[in-house]
Order: sequence, then C-alpha cells, then structure tokens
Amino acid sequence: MLRFAQTERRSPPRRDRAERIADFDEISATLDVQNLHAQSERCAGCGVPFCQSGCPLDNNIPDWLNLAAEGQEHAAWVLSNATNTLPEICGRICPQDRLCEQACVPGQAGFGAITIGAVETALSEQAWREGWVSPISPPVEHKHSVAIVGSGPAGLAAAAMLRENGFQVEIFERADRPGGLLTYGIPSFKLEKTVVLRRTEWLMQSGVKFHLNCEVGKDVTLAELRRQHDAVLLAGGVYQARQLSVPGASDNMIVPALDYLISANRLGFGDAVEDFNSGRLDASNKNVVVIGGGDTAMDCVRTAVRQGAKKVICLYRRDEENMPGSRKELQNAREEGVEFFWLAAPKAIHGAGDTPTEIRAVRMQLGAPQKDGRALPEEVPQSAFALPADMVITALGFTPEDLPAKYAAPDLETTQWGTLAIGRNGYETSLARVYAAGDCVRGASLVVWAIREGRDAAMEMIGDILRKELAA
Ligand SMILES: Cc1cc2nc3c(=O)[nH]c(=O)nc-3n(C[C@H](O)[C@H](O)[C@H](O)COP(=O)(O)OP(=O)(O)OC[C@H]3O[C@@H](n4cnc5c(N)ncnc54)[C@H](O)[C@@H]3O)c2cc1C
Ligand code: SF4
Repeated sequence: MLRFAQTERRSPPRRDRAERIADFDEISATLDVQNLHAQSERCAGCGVPFCQSGCPLDNNIPDWLNLAAEGQEHAAWVLSNATNTLPEICGRICPQDRLCEQACVPGQAGFGAITIGAVETALSEQAWREGWVSPISPPVEHKHSVAIVGSGPAGLAAAAMLRENGFQVEIFERADRPGGLLTYGIPSFKLEKTVVLRRTEWLMQSGVKFHLNCEVGKDVTLAELRRQHDAVLLAGGVYQARQLSVPGASDNMIVPALDYLISANRLGFGDAVEDFNSGRLDASNKNVVVIGGGDTAMDCVRTAVRQGAKKVICLYRRDEENMPGSRKELQNAREEGVEFFWLAAPKAIHGAGDTPTEIRAVRMQLGAPQKDGRALPEEVPQSAFALPADMVITALGFTPEDLPAKYAAPDLETTQWGTLAIGRNGYETSLARVYAAGDCVRGASLVVWAIREGRDAAMEMIGDILRKELAA
C-alpha cells in the first residue's frame, strides 16, 4: 500500500542545460501516461492527506490523484478543473515546493512529495488534446453584465465563473494582448505563450468580450463602466517598480525588471522592440548584474543567459535560505550558469555616459529579526567590492500605482500599502458595486491566489446582483 515508499518521486524530464539555454521554450516535458499513473499512485497509502491545505484553491488533490492512478484521467481532470480555472498554468508555474507539495505527507516523511503540479499539467494537457475542454455554454443567459478591468489571472478566472453562471462579461485591458503577467511578465521558458492564448481564446469562444488597448482611467472611465454595468471588478495588478536609491542609479543606467521581461516576451511574439534593437534591453555579450532575490530576479537572470550574456550575476542582500524566490527556479538558474552573490548589496553604479561599467557593492550579515520575523540585513564594515557590469537590472518588487488617481475615484479606499481596501468578508471596495481581486488587493503575489480571488469575487458579485434583482 505504501506506494510512495516503493516508487521514487520522478519529475518530468527537463531538457539539458546546453539545449535549453539556446531557446526560450519550456524546459520541462509533460509526464507521459505511464509516469502519470505511477506518480499519481504514489499518493496511495497516505493516511491523512494535508496537500489540499497547501493549495490556495483547496484543490481536491488526493481524489484526482487516485482517479489518475486508476487510469480514469477524464474523471480526474473534471475534478481538478472544478476548482481551478487555469490548471495547466498552475501545474507549470505554482511554486509547489512552498504550496501543495510542501504540505504533502510522503514528502514530509522524507520519501519525496508527490509530483502534484506535474500531474495537474499532464491531466490538463490531455484534456486539451482529447477535446474535453469546450467553450462555456451556460444553461441560462442573464441580461446582467459585469465589466472587468485587467485580463490577468484574476480577471480571467472571474470572467469564466461569471460566464458559467450566464452573466455577460466585458474585459477592459490596456495591453495589446490579454493575459496580464502570464503573457508579458513570466518568460516563455516557464510558461509558453500558446498555453495562455489558448485559454484567452477559449474565453472569447465562451462569450467574453475583450476590449484590448483600452485603459480604464484614460480610454474609458470607471464612472462610465459603473453606469453601463451591474458591477465592475478591478483586477489591474501592481506595476510600480521599487526603485534602487544608490549613487549612479539613474533611469539611463538601470533597467527595470519588467521592462526587460516585457521586451523579451514581445520579441518572442515577433514584435519589433526599439529598446532591444538599440542594445539597451539586449544582454548579449554583456556582464549582467541582477539585483533582487525573488522570482522576477530569477526570470531576469535566466532570460539574460538565453540572450547570450557574457556573465550573469545575481546580487541579493539576504542569504539563500531567506530568498523569497522558489527553490525550483533557483536550481534552474544555477544549472544554467548564473552566479549568486548572497549577502551582498549595491552601493553605487559607475559608468561612462549612459552606460554602466561597474557596480560597487558591500557584504551584508543578518542581524536581529524585524516585526515580520525576517532578519534585518546589516553592512559588514570594510567589505566593499566591485563587479564589472554592462547591464544592471533591478528586480526589487512592485507596489501599486496611485489607484484612486488612476481611476479618478477619490472615494476608492486603499490600505496603508496602497492596495485596494475591500470588505472584511468580501471583495467589494468602498465604492458600491465595484469589487477588486488579485495583486491590486493582495500586493504582488502568485497566480494561484489571483485565480482564487477572481473566482470568489465573481461568486460574490453574482450573489449580490441576483439578491438585488429578487428584492426589486
Ligand atoms: C516577472 C514575474 C514572474 C512571476 N512568476 C510567477 C510564477 O512563476 N508563479 C506565480 O504563481 N506567480 C508569478 N508571478 C506573480 C503573478 O504573475 C501575479 O501574482 C499575477 O499575475 C497577478 O494576477 P492579476 O490578475 O492580479 O494581475 P496581472 O497579471 O498583473 O494582470 C493585470 C492586468 O490588468 C491590466 N491593467 C492594469 N491597469 C489597467 C487599466 N487601468 N485599464 C485596463 N487594464 C489595466 C494590466 O495591463 C494587466 O494585463 C510573477 C510575477 C512577475 C512580475
Ligand atoms: S493549483 Fe498550485 S498549489 Fe494548487 S494543487 Fe495545483 S500546483 Fe498545487
């Protein structure tokens, strides 16, 4: 019965280093049928599964693993799809080592966690291949409509829930392609763009109307959307990059992480990118230094490797144990040749004209824990050092823009962190019939949380709209 002890954990094969850094394609294969069964079967014998508690979507993981182990892939997929709008995306990019797989009992017992994310991806890919995924066709169509601002995972998940319940949905997106950070932030070697576009096309076929190149607050106002729709969902994410404030860190000398990643993703779509052609966003033959230790920093270093950088260094002020990025991505970056300088912080950037040539840094040590429990990094006296740097990329995290100003809505309340304030037990903001979900509420977070909030906010809007109709 204790399959997890008899069968080893086996992740899907990853392409070897030399092959994968030569292109921007995904690095992992999908589990084949034999391994799908064998790896799912490892769940058998886990007496009291806790994996579900590690999944923000409360996915019914043990049940779909058992069905997959029995060869009932269709039933397994139906179950996994019931709680997750984008299972093929979560299976690929959730940091499972901090979520479901961290809570896996065999994993905690030292046998290696079940490859939950890989099974979720394999089931979903089979569903697309076999034609099990069909456009949403609600049993009843309502006249009620909801406007969604932003087509990232929060907006997409909300749109799907609303359509399943027969509501009319219009998404307003300022970018020229839908998908939010799934399309323009996350690199294609983690998530191929065809996977995202397949989903947005599915939503279009399901009756969701997309208005691309349409910025709310500029091309259309929030007030207009409130007049035209029964409810509005704000799901615009967070996009203000934290600044590096050391001498020499001027706009010309620094490349913000998202500018760099958006440009790389645009090149992948075949778009012309002026700042890449001018060399500003091209890492080839350069000594690249990326400052930061989160997933965005990992995405930047790995993109620079693929663009043919001479050397790629990641500088982070805390140690490896305290880096916020996923271990999986750190391992991938290391395998691809990235060098890590832990406990190191920038002090100045030197250069000639608009081009950096060197970064001056200092060694750090971890001091007393702060309020959030994390140790405060402190400078080590007389530990200055310098690194050659022709390109300096900052990946220091994101904060919200001034959202009441952006939406010309001074009564839209925000929290002390600038994120949108929502009700204690729900997603409605301080403006009646205006709801919010995803990063703009939670701060920079994860795709799986954006999906959870988008789904929950949609259910709340549906309940509120229908209750009002009944009361009228
Ligand atoms: C580089 C990078 C890598 C990441 N990697 C991972 C990962 O591996 N795994 C993971 O789980 N998470 C990852 N994340 C985090 C994840 O992408 C986000 O938490 C998630 O996308 C948030 O979803 P969202 O729908 O709230 O916002 P977003 O995905 O940011 O989407 C918001 C959308 O709203 C649009 N918008 C904003 N304002 C307006 C307006 N006024 N009018 C119209 N449209 C507007 C934006 O253009 C955007 O398309 C990563 C983030 C970054 C930056
Ligand atoms: S959605 Fe993410 S956390 Fe939940 S089971 Fe899938 S991979 Fe794990």
